[in-house]
Amino acid sequence: MANTVKDVILRGRKTVETVVEEGRKTVENVVEGGLNTVETVVGVGLNTVETVVVEGRKKVESAVHQGRVTVENVLIRDRATMKAAVLHGREDVRIEAVPVPEAGPCELIVSVGAALTCGTDLKVFRRGYHARMIVPPALFGHELAGTIVEAGEGVTGFAPGDRVVALNSAPCGHCYFCARGQENLCDDLLFNNGAYAEFIRIPARIVAKNTLHIPDDVPLEHAALTEPLACAVHGFEDSHPQPGDTVAVIGGGPLGLMILHVAALAGYNVIAIVKHEGQVEAARQLGAAHVVQANNIRKAIQETRALTEKDRGVDIAIEAVGVPESWEEAVEMVRKGGTVNFFGGCAMGTHVTLDTNRIHYSDITMRATFHHTPAMCRKALDLIASGRFQAAAFITGHAHLYELNRVFEKLMKRGSEIKTAIVP
Ligand SMILES: [Zn+2]
Ligand SMILES: [Zn+2]
Repeated sequence: MANTVKDVILRGRKTVETVVEEGRKTVENVVEGGLNTVETVVGVGLNTVETVVVEGRKKVESAVHQGRVTVENVLIRDRATMKAAVLHGREDVRIEAVPVPEAGPCELIVSVGAALTCGTDLKVFRRGYHARMIVPPALFGHELAGTIVEAGEGVTGFAPGDRVVALNSAPCGHCYFCARGQENLCDDLLFNNGAYAEFIRIPARIVAKNTLHIPDDVPLEHAALTEPLACAVHGFEDSHPQPGDTVAVIGGGPLGLMILHVAALAGYNVIAIVKHEGQVEAARQLGAAHVVQANNIRKAIQETRALTEKDRGVDIAIEAVGVPESWEEAVEMVRKGGTVNFFGGCAMGTHVTLDTNRIHYSDITMRATFHHTPAMCRKALDLIASGRFQAAAFITGHAHLYELNRVFEKLMKRGSEIKTAIVP
């Protein structure tokens, strides 16, 4: 074979080193040039592939979306009945065929994409009624997001095909409380139920005041968290936290976890006080700096205080269980000058016993935040859309409407379930 190293040396009187050196240079040149080229190609190719994939997905999604809307529109026009959960009494929910709702003036009909289970619904399921919200037989469920299939005469700002979250209530806007910005206390708060169904009618007032467009990249089931999150944000802000505060949140249910997550995202030092094993990990994941797990209230108070300097107590304690004993516990956890928020609503007719001296001489502020306002609902959806809020962590299961009874039975056993997305 010609041109071996030996030939080259003989012909050109080159040394081995020169030949090797030249060879290396050539190889390096090739490799270098090649790498650049390969990298450039790969780079350009990847970008193109990704762009194509993203674009393609968008097109497919919007086609599916459009298609579904069209199909649903057709379905809703051709159908007289839909499947819906009807509450008949204590632990008695039946899936029945009920008339498909029709949009009156300024109303919307929304095809439910996801309806989330909630502590309130669980209470309603267990008790068979709700003093303010539900008298059976009635449709129920109130945390939902979906797609508009019909817009009544006079609706502005919404059209069929729009993805929306429609809140469970809306204030009147002109009573004494609404005028003072305390819309959660509105004398004529209008409630809407019926999320556990294929379609739901959104009354005109909720359309006008508390129906929000969902950004494209936010899944419906995440957007459905707007209602409970609005309550959580309201409760937290209403406690008037100051930078550097330590906030104790009592209760590891969906709302306790949401409040602690909101506080942690805002940079506060959070202590979670939970009962069940499954809640410990969730509390940690959502940003609690410390988790106190205690079945005994005395112990919980002691352990929480021990986490503050000189056992002085926390700056803010938010009660999110809704039992009198735990309200009393919250008062015992705060420092002098601290704030207690009785966020959890207790059963009707219950009372608490509080140490008057402690409240007076320690200058304790007490609040009890209820529900949400339109401003809080917007803040909540913004927080979900920001991507900082771990929406997925709150939805621990999915089930079909037909499985609703089983889902509630499971939730009553208090495992590690937070919320289940019910898909009709
Ligand atoms: Zn709820
Ligand atoms: Zn009002």
